[in-house]
Amino acid sequence: MLAIGDELILGQKTDTNSAWISDALTARGVRVVEHATVADDTPRLVAAIERLGAAADVLVTTGGLGPTADDLTRAALGEAMGEGLVEDPAALEEIQSWFRGRGREMPATNSVQALRPVSARSLANPNGTAPGLASVIGEGGHACDVFCLPGPPHEMRPMFESFVIPAIRAQAGYAVVTRALHTFGLGESDVAARLGELMDRDRNPLVGTTASLGVVTCRIRYEGGAGTGAGALDGAEAAVREKLGDAVFAADGASDGALARAVIDKLRDRGEQLVVVESCTGGLLGETITRVAGSSDVLLGGWITYSNQMKSAAVGVKPETLDRVGAVSREVAVEMAEGGLAASSAAGGAKHALAITGIAGPGGGSDEKPAGTVWIARASAGAPTDVRCFRFRGGREAVRRWSVNAALGMLRLELDAVQTSLLGQIEPAVNPVI
Ligand code: ATP
Ligand code: MG
Repeated sequence: MLAIGDELILGQKTDTNSAWISDALTARGVRVVEHATVADDTPRLVAAIERLGAAADVLVTTGGLGPTADDLTRAALGEAMGEGLVEDPAALEEIQSWFRGRGREMPATNSVQALRPVSARSLANPNGTAPGLASVIGEGGHACDVFCLPGPPHEMRPMFESFVIPAIRAQAGYAVVTRALHTFGLGESDVAARLGELMDRDRNPLVGTTASLGVVTCRIRYEGGAGTGAGALDGAEAAVREKLGDAVFAADGASDGALARAVIDKLRDRGEQLVVVESCTGGLLGETITRVAGSSDVLLGGWITYSNQMKSAAVGVKPETLDRVGAVSREVAVEMAEGGLAASSAAGGAKHALAITGIAGPGGGSDEKPAGTVWIARASAGAPTDVRCFRFRGGREAVRRWSVNAALGMLRLELDAVQTSLLGQIEPAVNPVI
């Protein structure tokens, strides 16, 4: 997969085409082996087409098919093929009729879009002026099918469906199937250590991990005969679950939002509701929960108690406690959670409350409570309150996002009755960093 354009290289646009195309190819049993991105620069573009063409059986490029001087894909493909460019009469007619259909004359500059390497084929573009190109490059017995598609996603996608999908030699009976297991409470290296040889790169199914704000996701991927995929995945999943035990809280779906989705599902299954009391996260916990469709089944609501006055006025934190130990403390986190739970009775009563109070930074820290120190409490009717201190690194945004996940992770421990030292050492109360 080759994405072409200065705007991608400069970070002004995100390359979504490669992700979309790779997902579509993977779903059809094509193994994607590389993504590359290259600037609007002819020598680099030629080199990239030659290199990827030699390394793969199919190369899809997007971008650089427009009519302007920075649209170089046609010429670069010709150079990589060792061919000159010719005007394709049918393509020219199509571009002209695209303009006619909009009551306009084709500007002269657009005629370059009808050029193609001598042996290449033009691909019709019903949604724009840039025709695509299809050709074969290669030498020494290796042939690579090259498809050059326009950059704009709404033009690229229909062309991909019309021309690339029918052409790929989907190997009959070959499948790529994946499964994801989300964990929370272990570091990525702990997960890797537990998985041991299950992560060897030559295994099939192959097991890999990705980490995002404490959620470490194990991705299991099987490639091979379509009939055996599900069984192979089941076997690998069982082996992974055995190694990771209680750390696994959900399967499949994106890792972003996975904790919120899992907690909401578990609360809904139990018919229980939740309130939140937030200080340093300023509503981010509520936002994360309400981002999930259907969260109204389980979230009663909450309070943003950013100031000391509001902590007392809204959920009854005692002014003496605030004076004695400060807002970022075990005692205040507990009073916020238990006070929130008590205050929710006026709204029907929640079963659980989560409270977060901390120093998001970068300022406001001290030797005793450095920036990143966050106390989180979970109070639940009929169960002992759980309170923990975390020290998160990574700046204000990271501290806030980690805090949200840690709070959801603590609730999940209660909902799944997990009795382990997940989330770091519970005693002493300070977790260094999770
Ligand atoms: P045209 O000039 O006819 O629009 P083109 O093939 O020349 O088509 P580009 O000029 O390279 O396409 O890109 C046009 C627009 O397409 C970009 O501004 C960008 O918005 C979008 N685009 C290009 N490449 C990508 C990509 N890899 N992922 C997402 N969007 C892209
Ligand atoms: Mg471009």
